[in-house]
Amino acid sequence: MSAGPSWGGLPGDPPILPHWIGNRPVLTADGRDPAWIDDLAPATGRVRARIARGGPAEVDAAVGAARAALTGPWAGWTAAARAELLDRAAALLEARLDELAALEGEDSGKPVALAARMDIPRAVANLRFFAGAARHDHTPCHADGGPGRRLNYTLRRPVGVCALITPWNLPLYLLTWKVAPALAMGNTVVCKPSELTPATATALAAALAEAGLPDGVFNLVHGYGPEVGAPLVAHPGVSLVSFTGGTATGRSVAAAAAPSFKKLSLELGGKNATVIFADAVDSEAALDAVVSGAVRAAFTNQGQICLCGSRLLVEGRAYDRVVGRFLQRMAALRVGPPEAAVDMGSLISHAHREKVEGYLRLAREEGGVVVGGERPSPAEAPEGGAFLRPAAVLGLSPRCRVATEEIFGPVVSVHRFEDEAEALEQANLVRYGLAASVWTTQLDRAHRVAAALEAGIVWVNCWLERDLRTPFGGVKESGVGREGGDWSLDFYSEVRNVCLALS
Ligand code: NAD
Repeated sequence: MSAGPSWGGLPGDPPILPHWIGNRPVLTADGRDPAWIDDLAPATGRVRARIARGGPAEVDAAVGAARAALTGPWAGWTAAARAELLDRAAALLEARLDELAALEGEDSGKPVALAARMDIPRAVANLRFFAGAARHDHTPCHADGGPGRRLNYTLRRPVGVCALITPWNLPLYLLTWKVAPALAMGNTVVCKPSELTPATATALAAALAEAGLPDGVFNLVHGYGPEVGAPLVAHPGVSLVSFTGGTATGRSVAAAAAPSFKKLSLELGGKNATVIFADAVDSEAALDAVVSGAVRAAFTNQGQICLCGSRLLVEGRAYDRVVGRFLQRMAALRVGPPEAAVDMGSLISHAHREKVEGYLRLAREEGGVVVGGERPSPAEAPEGGAFLRPAAVLGLSPRCRVATEEIFGPVVSVHRFEDEAEALEQANLVRYGLAASVWTTQLDRAHRVAAALEAGIVWVNCWLERDLRTPFGGVKESGVGREGGDWSLDFYSEVRNVCLALS
């Protein structure tokens, strides 16, 4: 694990994660003595770094730097130059993939192998994808009234300073998902990563500086949500807010952004259904493949992905076979230190593990049967870590609290349905609507169910297959707006129509 300061950090014992304002590491913006937040490694409980604890002064300085940069040299950069910058930053991250994966594993508790396979490659892909999008972007032109009358053409303009606020579960993956399109469209940014997983945001700041980004275009303020996130959202110099996090926080972000009509995108919580029809498991091989998909959907990243399938809905006549195999597979998952060959690492914190365990107690109180969900033995995982074995909750109504509230951990509630109508009723009864995965071999059913599910994303016979050109986002209390592909370009730009009278 990392001994010295992480990329972009400052030396110290433990190392220091500074803010980045105007392309420079900064501890305080107003000369006061710095305050600190301990950055804990959840798998050991050890303090791995000290985070500069920002506040309104740093937010103000970062927004000021970002505003100034809007009229600096950056304003004259062509789309091709911005694309080259993103490609250079992508290459720098890719060259340090192993180091970044280890950093993400240490900071979040996730398996390093998962970060090396998913988080960091996806961060690199985000930068490259939006470099390509900037290169290939085009806007419409409408000629009206015959030759020589009126010509309408559409310009994309940067929106201004973008506030980009991210959660702890996919730190670099989600931050680059916002930073790349914002820069591709010529904006400047102030980022506020989660105080629980700040390390790779600091590394991104260093990579962008090394790639040649002008001063003030990328700014980063570390700290707690109420002390940094809230003043950032409310700041009059900010024109756009892209927030990914919990639904309750999203509600206060929306309220704070509303008075000044900031452009707003909210990617919030989920309680996603994995719906398995009996026709999908009509052979042993099919049963194996479908259950593998359901286990992956349930427990990847310790169940801490907004898209995780935390409700398993199974058709009655296949229920025993599917659930039996699911429990077998679940029991075989290896839980342990992030750097070991494991399927699951540590949860993000002890407090979060207690919240998840609280739901397992609630499940028992509500009359359910809990399988798994124990703390692993010291032989499996270090005692100081926030480890928890995966759990399934059986025998509860799909309307109970455990089956309808977002737990955001390795817990799946299992339910039985008898026909398609009941499957849809169960899938749609929660207040969330982010994603769903449906497993069936019947083509007409696949289309029918995909159309009737209340979710922004429906996977059929797969889960977490992502094409970055597609719209991403949720309905109901899972969010407002879509990002991805052209949806990101539209969100991170203002389109202006110009009408030219030619006669
Ligand atoms: P959170 O809402 O607690 O925090 C998210 C970010 O918001 C953090 O950086 C936090 O410091 C900041 N914040 C907190 N209070 C704020 C305020 N008042 N104003 C502005 N910013 C504030 O979420 P979390 O616990 O970090 O992440 C888990 C949640 O994120 C889950 O609900 C999960 O479903 C959701 N999530 C959603 C998506 C998606 O794409 N829909 C992706 C990942 C995670």
